[in-house]
Amino acid sequence: MNASPSVAVVGGGFAGLEAAFTLREILGEQLRLTLITDSPYFLTRPNNIYVPFGRDPRLYVGLASPATRRGIDLRRSPLAALDTDANRIDLADRESVRYDYAVLATGAAMRPDEVPGLAEHPHTIWTPDKAKALGTALQRVAEYAHAGMEQRVLLLVPPGNLCSAPLYDFALLLEEWLRSELVRDQVQIELTTFEDRYLESFGPDLHGAARAEFAARGITAATGTAVNAVHPDHVVYADGSTRPFDLLVTFPPHVAAVAYPGLSASDRGFLKTDPATSRVMGTENVFAPGDAGDFPVKLAYLALRQADAAADEIAWRIDPTAKGDRRRLDFEVGASPLWNPGRMSVRVYMPRLFAAGRPSQTGIGGL
Ligand SMILES: Cc1cc2nc3c(=O)[nH]c(=O)nc-3n(C[C@H](O)[C@H](O)[C@H](O)COP(=O)(O)OP(=O)(O)OC[C@H]3O[C@@H](n4cnc5c(N)ncnc54)[C@H](O)[C@@H]3O)c2cc1C
Repeated sequence: MNASPSVAVVGGGFAGLEAAFTLREILGEQLRLTLITDSPYFLTRPNNIYVPFGRDPRLYVGLASPATRRGIDLRRSPLAALDTDANRIDLADRESVRYDYAVLATGAAMRPDEVPGLAEHPHTIWTPDKAKALGTALQRVAEYAHAGMEQRVLLLVPPGNLCSAPLYDFALLLEEWLRSELVRDQVQIELTTFEDRYLESFGPDLHGAARAEFAARGITAATGTAVNAVHPDHVVYADGSTRPFDLLVTFPPHVAAVAYPGLSASDRGFLKTDPATSRVMGTENVFAPGDAGDFPVKLAYLALRQADAAADEIAWRIDPTAKGDRRRLDFEVGASPLWNPGRMSVRVYMPRLFAAGRPSQTGIGGL
């Protein structure tokens, strides 16, 4: 009988890979690690932002090679069911995986149909394919503008969205791109957000900075504007006002990607977790770092930190002598000056580290 403790990680995104590679770093070979994922690659989702502008960022990292390198048993099949009484995960391919500890890192999904018309009319940057389609639409905007037809691009952050920052980045990238296409004067850019202040989950300082940046670039923006409905050529807001558009780009409301019946979850399906370690409430050995958990801001940078804390906790329980300090989190929404630089940096260094089978804390020096 194999007596090594076992950890099953579900999800090959930021949180899942960070947890798996960190556990391997701390515990070495005294651990059986299984990675269950519905995709053969890691997607650097934050880099979708560059795709509409014809740039070629690193989007995909194949999982087979880093998994082999780190001695991780890779199962490419979606999770079908979780049995926390039996400590067992059933896969869609009818295999099952037993665990001593489970890390549920299946991330978030979009639920655009919370707002009438939001699923039909806007473009998004949620997947590389959708970002590519948006690139085609932007080319059309530029063509019309070149032909002398004024264009309106409206960027919309609706209630229920828990990661507004990419649309702010998109506004600035769009403004630069239109200038490079020599059509900036023909295109009006407008951003409306339900937030009371720009980027409010990142802290009070960014509101003024965003406002100044928008003013300097001639981008019109408005806070406190909750959308009620989207029509083919205009948006209706809760106060009855409307805004027309030629092109609409949104980042829809978030929900959990996977439902886990029997585990305690928020009304959006996010698993209720202990904020210090991402342990799922009501369980002893199940953790949910990253977007799958109920922390009210969804960011890869936070997913990494949550996965580190979860991995430390699991490692400490398996072998209290293996590591000195256990990382504990006490994030406060709107209070951290680190989140903004942190979220930008993950785009560049995480695909490189994950390709090498390394977690974020080993830094680029770990390559
Ligand atoms: C356009 C855009 C730009 C962004 N920009 C930034 C940024 O600049 N900085 C930043 O910090 N964050 C950014 N974010 C947010 C960031 O992408 C997420 O917070 C991050 O991806 C969350 O990591 P995660 O591991 O929790 O989930 P994910 O990265 O979504 O990974 C979830 C994993 O679970 C797998 N999975 C799902 N369902 C199943 C199943 N049933 N069975 C098995 N596996 C499953 C998926 O295949 C995936 O591998 C951006 C998001 C978007 C959409």
